[in-house]
Amino acid sequence: MTRTTPPRPADLEAAFPELASLARTATRLHPRPGIPSPQDSSIGGPLLWPASEPWPHCGEVAHHTSPIPLMSVADARLRQRLAAARDSRAAARPSREGWGYNPYTPEERAILEQIQAQDKPEGPVSMLPVAQLYLRDVPGLRPPEGSDLLQVLWCPFEHDDGMPTTALFWRTAAAVSDILLAPPEPAAIYGVFYVPEPCLVHPEEVIEYPSALELGKEMRERLERWAVTEFGIEYLDLCIPPGCKVGGYINWGMTDAYPTPCPTCGTPTEPLLTISGKEWYFDVHHWIPYEDQADNLAWGPGQDGPARPTRICVSDDNAQIIQICPASPEHPHTQIMQ
Ligand SMILES: [Zn+2]
Ligand SMILES: [Zn+2]
Repeated sequence: MTRTTPPRPADLEAAFPELASLARTATRLHPRPGIPSPQDSSIGGPLLWPASEPWPHCGEVAHHTSPIPLMSVADARLRQRLAAARDSRAAARPSREGWGYNPYTPEERAILEQIQAQDKPEGPVSMLPVAQLYLRDVPGLRPPEGSDLLQVLWCPFEHDDGMPTTALFWRTAAAVSDILLAPPEPAAIYGVFYVPEPCLVHPEEVIEYPSALELGKEMRERLERWAVTEFGIEYLDLCIPPGCKVGGYINWGMTDAYPTPCPTCGTPTEPLLTISGKEWYFDVHHWIPYEDQADNLAWGPGQDGPARPTRICVSDDNAQIIQICPASPEHPHTQIMQ
């Protein structure tokens, strides 16, 4: 099933012709729970990983491990399944009344109580697949010459920058014949939100405009005033869609916009992949694909439901933006949070 983003309620280029030259194409990934195979583009799905190649590990020792008890990957998946079942029961209730009261059943509670907290893992931590994207599904990937597959893994612990550390691999899919079928898993992880629900993706290209924080003061003030007075909406809800995407702009706001040069050569880096748990906000309708709008209404404002298909939540529900150097694929990627 495809996903289609409705048009914005406001025609930004008609009102501000100077935005036309700044428009960028991004690809919303629209992850939805499924059973991806190594041959599929996915979020949290199995990777087309060569059996002969070592699986990536994180050697960092200063992992943040509080205040959440550590748990195994299997227990994290169990907890997510129980939470999804509980939330679905709430969504099926005919009345919106008592929306916040949404308990586990005694049976579910008994299962949850048996989940054992795990000790902090000793030694390197196996990384977890976050994203696998084939060029055929996401033409906007712009891989290095000869590659047609991007694989991103992360260490399921928060590091000093407040995010999981990521590892990036570009491959040629046809060169992988012997696939690693049972990759290692970390013995313990930090919270369920860094174990993505396996999702198939439904890529859709959309047009983005820069965050107001990347524009001059005069333009920024005009844009923000116009959006609020004409449409009762903030410009940041018009310029850039939320959720997982490839390319496009950074929706600054947690901090002011700042330069992010390549650590090797100083060239300004470009956003490659944005990982974000919330695919849309309940009442910002123009970012909710037509195909999901009925489902969104069934859930109501207090619950994530279909708006958080990956069940990811980076730090305080921010976006993790992986950036690469346009000058060379050999230069290390960087990441920021917004
Ligand atoms: Zn780590
Ligand atoms: Zn560089």
